[in-house]
Amino acid sequence: MSERKMILVTGGAGFLGSHLCDRLIAAGHDVLCVDNFYTGAKRNVEHLMGHSRFELMRHDVTFPLYVEVDEIYNLACPASPIHYQHDPVQTTKTSVHGAINMLGLAKRLKARIFQASTSEVYGDPAVHPQPESYWGHVNPIGPRSCYDEGKRCAETLFFDYYRQHALDIKVARIFNTYGPRMHPDDGRVVSNFIVQALKGQPVTIYGDGSQTRSFCYVDDLIDGFVRLMATPKGVTGPINLGNPGEFSMLELARHVIEMTGSKSKLTFKPLPQDDPKQRRPDITRAVAELDWRPKVQLNVGLRKTIDYFDELLSLPTAKVA
Ligand code: NAD
Ligand code: UDP
Repeated sequence: MSERKMILVTGGAGFLGSHLCDRLIAAGHDVLCVDNFYTGAKRNVEHLMGHSRFELMRHDVTFPLYVEVDEIYNLACPASPIHYQHDPVQTTKTSVHGAINMLGLAKRLKARIFQASTSEVYGDPAVHPQPESYWGHVNPIGPRSCYDEGKRCAETLFFDYYRQHALDIKVARIFNTYGPRMHPDDGRVVSNFIVQALKGQPVTIYGDGSQTRSFCYVDDLIDGFVRLMATPKGVTGPINLGNPGEFSMLELARHVIEMTGSKSKLTFKPLPQDDPKQRRPDITRAVAELDWRPKVQLNVGLRKTIDYFDELLSLPTAKVA
């Protein structure tokens, strides 16, 4: 095992955060999970409660936090379009004030700090696939801007703390990731399609379904987080983490319907404003600098995710909420 550390995970009760907490606990570290439960749930970390090296704290990262830790993973931020557009001002505050607060904490502690950035910094990309050198094509005043610009500003802050205060930063640009513990109602495409197919409801395709995304299974992504965090000081990123396999939403819907054995039919709804038409990571840098590449094929990851939702939907409603 690597040296035992006290590690702060903000947004630790969310989808990705809870998997990261699992990974860090399994590696022998102490984990302080901080979350305001805006989109996350205690259920996601229930199995860690009572573990001697795990602590859960209710806290909103838009307010300063005074704790003593060795490393910080900053994941706090709603990630699904429905959730981040529900209270857009709070979304920008979470990204920007949250970053300032966590960077201030890292500066005082001289702690290494990781930022969960996003492929959304590329907006509706005109360059395909997207390398880290691409500056993006982002609408600054649209419904997605609270998230996209909030995350871009957070990256700016990370790099200014790096240049101005020599902070040890690690910035990952995460592409669409899926797996168990996604929120069943968060409106993201993988959870929507699976839940709809399992319930025999129409599967909602926005637009004509030709838009593409690349889907990374959560275990692969968390492996990338840990590898990036283990790089020497000065390896800052930004670094794309995602699976380069690219699928249209129509292809994804057909896969899910087939794998669930569902009788659901497709239904077409309007395409949301500024919905990116295509997205695929160029992972050359992750391969070279982290020796990282995703291993889990879409059908394997989807099987695990379908099984998770199948079990979740069989629980009494109170447990799912
Ligand atoms: P999630 O919504 O499941 O998790 C986010 C967590 O942050 C939740 O537990 C939520 O309660 C918490 N949170 C929100 N605002 C907070 C605040 N002000 N203070 C404290 N906690 C707060 O989403 P996720 O998919 O796990 O995403 C985690 C991070 O990864 C986010 O920063 C997101 O932008 C980034 N990301 C995720 C994806 C993806 O595909 N899952 C892609 C790109 C980037
Ligand atoms: N989408 C869809 N049906 C749904 C949910 C989403 O067709 O029920 C589409 C959405 O318009 C987008 C893609 O799936 O083109 C991915 O959406 P998601 O919200 O998962 O993530 P995004 O990458 O847009 O942030």
